[in-house]
Amino acid sequence: MAYCVGPTGEAPNESVEVDFLVLAAGVNRAPGMEPGSDSLSRALREFMPRFRSPQVRRSLICELQADEESLQFMSGELHFAQYGSRDIKIEMSSLIPKDGYVTVALLGRSVDEADRSDNARILQEFLELPHIRRLLPGKLDLTPLCICNPNMTVGAARHPFGHRTAVIGDMAASRLYKDGILSAFLTASALADCISETGVDQRSLKKKYWPVIKRLRRDTWWGKFVFLLNRVTFSNRVLSRILYQAVMSERKTKPQSKRKLAHLLWRIASGDDTYARIFISMFHPATLAAVGIGGILVTARNYLAELVLDLKWGGFGRHPTAIPMEVFDAKRLQFAKVVDIEGPGQRPEFESMYSIKIRGTQEAILRQLGKFGDQDRQFFKPRAIKVHRTSGQPNEVGSVVRYGLPLRWLAFSIILERNLEGQCLIYRIRNGFAKGGVQVFVISPIRKRLYLLSIYIGFSFPRPKNPLKRVAWLAFKLAFPGFVHDVIWNHSLCKLKDLIENDA
Ligand SMILES: Cc1cc2nc3c(=O)[nH]c(=O)nc-3n(C[C@H](O)[C@H](O)[C@H](O)COP(=O)(O)OP(=O)(O)OC[C@H]3O[C@@H](n4cnc5c(N)ncnc54)[C@H](O)[C@@H]3O)c2cc1C
Repeated sequence: MAYCVGPTGEAPNESVEVDFLVLAAGVNRAPGMEPGSDSLSRALREFMPRFRSPQVRRSLICELQADEESLQFMSGELHFAQYGSRDIKIEMSSLIPKDGYVTVALLGRSVDEADRSDNARILQEFLELPHIRRLLPGKLDLTPLCICNPNMTVGAARHPFGHRTAVIGDMAASRLYKDGILSAFLTASALADCISETGVDQRSLKKKYWPVIKRLRRDTWWGKFVFLLNRVTFSNRVLSRILYQAVMSERKTKPQSKRKLAHLLWRIASGDDTYARIFISMFHPATLAAVGIGGILVTARNYLAELVLDLKWGGFGRHPTAIPMEVFDAKRLQFAKVVDIEGPGQRPEFESMYSIKIRGTQEAILRQLGKFGDQDRQFFKPRAIKVHRTSGQPNEVGSVVRYGLPLRWLAFSIILERNLEGQCLIYRIRNGFAKGGVQVFVISPIRKRLYLLSIYIGFSFPRPKNPLKRVAWLAFKLAFPGFVHDVIWNHSLCKLKDLIENDA
């Protein structure tokens, strides 16, 4: 015998006889409700006195309407941010653009502690965080259409079954912050298997159904450690910079199939693995080595380089500019087609390439690139490297820009050899140790008002006939600090992006 309780929790008014009672009523009979407090839960306890609802966490979900055209440049993107700020405590957030809308989901202490009247303020503060602002188009006008606080199951129920009774889905258990629908499927199919293959009594349910709930509970336990470590890392500037650097180093040096860190971050964001396995991967020797060498050592080295070169990061964000290994090879072939670097089939001895996505117009990007060599440019200003145009006009073929370096014998000039319809600027190195090499800027459209600005530098070191000089240049080549290029161009491209996007 079972009572029927309406979705709004009205009193039982009808009774039906059933062989087995399964409840899949979720944890949002009223959004943000206290599970276990409504009439359905009270009625359920008559059949399952030891049942205790799973732990839930309140979320803040908002549907924002936006001008479709402005949103175009975000199409196909999905953003996760795992930190808010000191004032707005967010542990998990996602921004999902769709046609004309952006769905924002937030979880964190600020949401836990707020009441409904704080929703609009929390959302506004979140959207104004610098790292969130940077993800959205500059002049995007977002209008909240609906905002609510549904519960998310973040644990497992106790005793989720009784004699000929069980709960499934969110009422029983869910993976921490992920895959609620998968958990609902797993619990539902496990229960169906149990009923059809083992039995409907409490012992059978314990034997066949309970292990699935236990697995989800154990996974959640590991998940708590995974998200704790994640939170500690992303809420600390130094640690997040180290991790960011480690991911960039890996991107540059390892093929996609061997990128442990990128794979690890993806699994955390998507929930594409068990949390136990994700946690173990976090401490795998290969992960620790990638963080230690590609992260800690490279960050320390780059930090010192930034100090020496007086490169400051105030007011604009760091963005990835490193090119993934496989893209590097494909792109250098494209460059080789337009630029006579070393002759067919030859590779320059030194090559570096960087790129950054910029919102704006081709003209705005070109205008800023034209300032390369101007006194009033606001990018590419490392201390000790004096770059100035010695002849010609901005972006004019034949204009010459001189790189003055502290050791005068290292100084050189570059001449704008070709300007291919404002999409590709090819500078040739005229003299100095890199004579014959190139510095190329390429502006490629991605979507309307979204461009990829790439820079390629390639040259070979001198090979004089004199054996002594040859040995000296070989030593110079071995000691050449190529990473300084990474530091300077990462800073310069991020600054350029900031200038162009704020100009748009
Ligand atoms: C904002 C948000 C975003 C999410 N995003 C994702 C995601 O992207 N991917 C993912 O996998 N999971 C996601 N989840 C989790 C996922 O929605 C749930 O885990 C999943 O829906 C649980 O399914 P369920 O059937 O247990 O409960 P629900 O989907 O909540 O369904 C319960 C149903 O029971 C009905 N009901 C309640 N009481 C009664 C009653 N007395 N009589 C009759 N009917 C009743 C309700 O009206 C409801 O239709 C999200 C959850 C939230 C809150």
